[in-house]
Order: sequence, then C-alpha cells, then structure tokens
Amino acid sequence: MQIWLDQVRDEPFNWDETQSVSPEILDRPELLDLGPVAWRGQVIYADPGYFLRARLSYEQTLSCNRCLKPIVEQAQSDVELMILVEPGPEAAGEHALHEQDLGILYLQNELLETDPILIEQLQLNIPMKPLCREDCQGLCPVCGADRNAGACSCEESTADPRWAALAALKGRLPDAR
Ligand SMILES: [Zn+2]
Ligand SMILES: [Zn+2]
Repeated sequence: MQIWLDQVRDEPFNWDETQSVSPEILDRPELLDLGPVAWRGQVIYADPGYFLRARLSYEQTLSCNRCLKPIVEQAQSDVELMILVEPGPEAAGEHALHEQDLGILYLQNELLETDPILIEQLQLNIPMKPLCREDCQGLCPVCGADRNAGACSCEESTADPRWAALAALKGRLPDAR
C-alpha cells in the first residue's frame, strides 16, 4: 500500500485491510506458515511530520526450537511511528529504514510505502527460539524420538556404565559413618 502524505495534510488517512504475506519474504526457517494479516491504521498530519498508528492481528505457525512440532499462535502488535520527510541528497539515505527502531521513519519524499513497516512488525513477532512449551524435552539426539512422548530406550544405554558399577559397589559397602 502507498500513501501520499501531501493528501494527509488535508485529512487523516485511514485503512482497514487484509494482506497476504508469503512466509518466505521473512526468511526465517522457524516460520512455517503465516495467515492473512489483518491490519488497520491511521496516518495523521502532526507538524513537522506525520504520525502513523496501526494494529496488526494474524495467525502464525512456528516450529518448536527443540522438538520441531508446529506451534500455531495468534499474534498481534501495535505500531506507532513518527514520519519525517527530509528531502535532500544526504537525508533519507543516511537515516534509512533502521531508525524505525526509534519510532522515527525518515522519508525522502511524500510517498509512504507501508509494506516495509508491516514486514518489520511480522519479524518482531517471531521469537528467537520458539518453544511449544517452556519445558519441552526436545528430540533424542540418538534416535530422534520425541522425548515429550516418553523416554526412549537410548537413555538407559547412553548412561555411563561406570556410574552403574559404582552404585552397585556402594550398595555392598557397610555405611562409613
Ligand atoms: Zn517442543
Ligand atoms: Zn532415543
């Protein structure tokens, strides 16, 4: 979506849209699927710039960092952004889009592209290490079984046999006290 800011000077621009975003665009392997993103918002003139406020809500499917099980969750976020138009050779290029982190977006002209803002919010809603639950046991590194479903037989055989021998020996010794 493109918003011409010079028109916003006269009256606020409102939108209420549902947008499909391909999960590949976000380039995050843990994102398995992304539902249609519903978002509505408003841009108003706020001298010397513009103020954008929007709310997104959608469904995303992430893969658990430990057991790889799909996690389906509702995601929501709110964006508030000050937009400043700074024409001139050095202005916009220097500040670039990354100043979105500070809540300020610099543009070189009065044309606002909303897609980068939307994509940025979707990125922020993907945790670094998604977990299906806090205490997910993950997969067995030996046989690949889901440990949440119960212990696999690997666990006994990978235990150090020396400890087993020591435990047996201790059991035979008289109490040292
Ligand atoms: Zn898990
Ligand atoms: Zn196993």
